[in-house]
Amino acid sequence: MLPTLPFDPSHVLINGTWRATAATLPLINPSDGTTLCQIANSTADDVDAAVTAAHRAREGDWGRMTALDRGRCLTRLGQHVLDHVDLLAKLEALDVGKPLAQARADAIALARYCEFYGGAADKVHGETIPYLDGYTVYTLREPHGVTGHIVPWNYPMQIIGRSVGAALAMGNACVLKPAEDACLTALMFAHLAQKAGFPDGALNVVPGLGAQAGDALARHPGIHHLSFTGSVQTGQAVQQAAGENVVPVTLELGGKSPQIVFDDADLDQALPFLVNAGLQNAGQTCSAASRILVQSAVFDDVASRMAEAYRAKVIGPATENPDIGPLISRKQKDRVTAFLEAAGTTPLLAETPLPDTLPEQGAYVQPKLFGPIAPDHSLAQDEIFGPVQVLIPFDTEADAVRIANGTAYGLVAGVWTQNGARQMRLAKALRCGQVFINNYGAGGGVELPFGGIGKSGHGREKGFEALYGFSTLKTVAARHG
Ligand code: NAD
Repeated sequence: MLPTLPFDPSHVLINGTWRATAATLPLINPSDGTTLCQIANSTADDVDAAVTAAHRAREGDWGRMTALDRGRCLTRLGQHVLDHVDLLAKLEALDVGKPLAQARADAIALARYCEFYGGAADKVHGETIPYLDGYTVYTLREPHGVTGHIVPWNYPMQIIGRSVGAALAMGNACVLKPAEDACLTALMFAHLAQKAGFPDGALNVVPGLGAQAGDALARHPGIHHLSFTGSVQTGQAVQQAAGENVVPVTLELGGKSPQIVFDDADLDQALPFLVNAGLQNAGQTCSAASRILVQSAVFDDVASRMAEAYRAKVIGPATENPDIGPLISRKQKDRVTAFLEAAGTTPLLAETPLPDTLPEQGAYVQPKLFGPIAPDHSLAQDEIFGPVQVLIPFDTEADAVRIANGTAYGLVAGVWTQNGARQMRLAKALRCGQVFINNYGAGGGVELPFGGIGKSGHGREKGFEALYGFSTLKTVAARHG
């Protein structure tokens, strides 16, 4: 059951006011298929009202606020998030089907984003540039103005933290369109932002369907910058819409990220990272390590250790805090199941047992580990976005690099080896946005710039880099003789 909330989850937040929309949508608990509540089905008119409110905020109190005070608002918001970690985690578990401990970690990460960007808000500045005699030249870092944020369902809190947090720090006014499958923590975040003292209109939230509210936001001529995380197909549509208005867009579109295990790797250290980076959030993670490349001499050892770990995992409803919960929806379950059916006779190394006590209407999928498979196999090329990993054998370092770089994506890579020179060579040779050496993910890393190349997208969020992305540079050249 949904806990009592300090706002009506069927409302939108526009210009500091919670209000109803003409129509609503059911929000489903993927652990058991029950309806949690109704949420707003925002229309293009609602989105337009939100963009107008954001413009007013930029022209009003929010636009006039100093960087120091913006930072203080964010820091207070971080504290409110910390004060409500249990509620946020419960909401995410119910809404996303994310095991409670993982949902709690996301809530703490959201607080950390607010702290980080709160502290950074008044530390981003321009430069003076030596120029011709008689000139003083300097640059100003300014907000874009009104930023649009289209967020998916897999990590709502973390993605809101990294994009909305950085955008607010730079003084942008935001319009947030959370996913129709999971928007409760976005609404709770907006409620907490009000408590933290953000002026009306600085943050507006319009839940609803992608094809309706999302599309209206992406196309809106009043948006100055778009941040999108989700599928390649939708990212292409958002980029086209941004192109019509000639505004910058940050795209984070997922991947087919490898972890590469050499025969000198510390396998005891590597094992939990190899498995958990594939199964965390039931594999619905943009940076999931869905391909494990293993040097032939240790292939059997790695395969049998990973298979054992798969068989030991526990699947269950998210609020019972299992290792693995359901997928986000029955639609996503059907999508993943179709990939698995297409796999046919691909060698299967292990499955996690599905308890027969699971609610029938839950969106559960049995985690599967395949291997050895060829690098061009569809399971090794397509982003499945479910609890599926493949093991690919390789012989030489050159083979490993070629296979790792051999997909349309380039988000994250992990390298397991004790050889320092090889670590450095691979860090340079891998085509992606982040390389982790003898770890994977580095604990989340709010501070670490994140983003991809190729079909994984472009632009960087997280860390200081996001503050540059959510601002624009103005050059001032003053001639004074
Ligand atoms: P999606 O890309 O359709 O949805 C992501 C967000 O975009 C949601 O808020 C959605 O409402 C919005 N959206 C949808 N259509 C839109 C449009 N035409 N214009 C503007 N916004 C729109 O993703 P999905 O359908 O929820 O999931 C499909 C697949 O996408 C998944 O199986 C997975 O492969 C991938 N995915 C990737 C990520 C990631 O983090 N990389 C996240 C979610 C989904």
